[in-house]
Amino acid sequence: MKTLGIIGGMSWESSVLYYQWINRGIKERLGGLHSARLMLNSVDFAEIETLQHAGDWDGAGLILNKAARALEVAGCDLLLIATNTMHKVAQQTLVDVELPLVHIVDPTAQAIKAKGLNRVGLLGTGFTMSDDFYRGRMTNTFDIDVIIPEADEQSDVHHIIYEELCLGTVNADSKARYLEIVQALASRGAEAVIMGCTEITLLIGQEDTVVPLFDTTAIHASAAVDAMLE
Ligand code: GLU
Repeated sequence: MKTLGIIGGMSWESSVLYYQWINRGIKERLGGLHSARLMLNSVDFAEIETLQHAGDWDGAGLILNKAARALEVAGCDLLLIATNTMHKVAQQTLVDVELPLVHIVDPTAQAIKAKGLNRVGLLGTGFTMSDDFYRGRMTNTFDIDVIIPEADEQSDVHHIIYEELCLGTVNADSKARYLEIVQALASRGAEAVIMGCTEITLLIGQEDTVVPLFDTTAIHASAAVDAMLE
């Protein structure tokens, strides 16, 4: 088994799920007392969030680069950034780092393609929904059309992530709002919706809607298990 290096803490509410689901995946694949060989370098999300909202992505990228270098020196074989949004600085994170990155978009796109779908809605932070780093990779590399929520919907999706989910707050009204937005994306032609923020899985799940959902936390954790056992 390869040793996985996780850059986490963004937020820790979802890093906990990664830790649990990667270990569960290794146990399912190897049986018995097997567990995941991994190291978690957990950053202070308050610092990251401040830099994000100030538009200082270079500053945020430097913090992740430092975390990645530490994981490499410590002996990891693979790298995982446990958030969708911070893949915006994936390139900066990998400066002078040799570790292969398990990129969150790739297994998500492959899961969408495996279901024969080509047009999906995207929920995530404002950065993930509006910037090109995420949608661009979906479209240019995997030929998947991505529909994003309307401006007022985007604002609600973003604020619920930072003001509730990343603080571990799960609110019934917010859940209803998310499900309304999922439905709106479907009526605008989305065949499925990507839960493109690693905390959304705390709020909604496939049992809540007939619209197919792609949970990036689960997909990413499972891709990490595959890569560790390759
Ligand atoms: N975990 C979230 C994501 O997957 C948001 C937190 C962050 O900004 O990294 O995008």
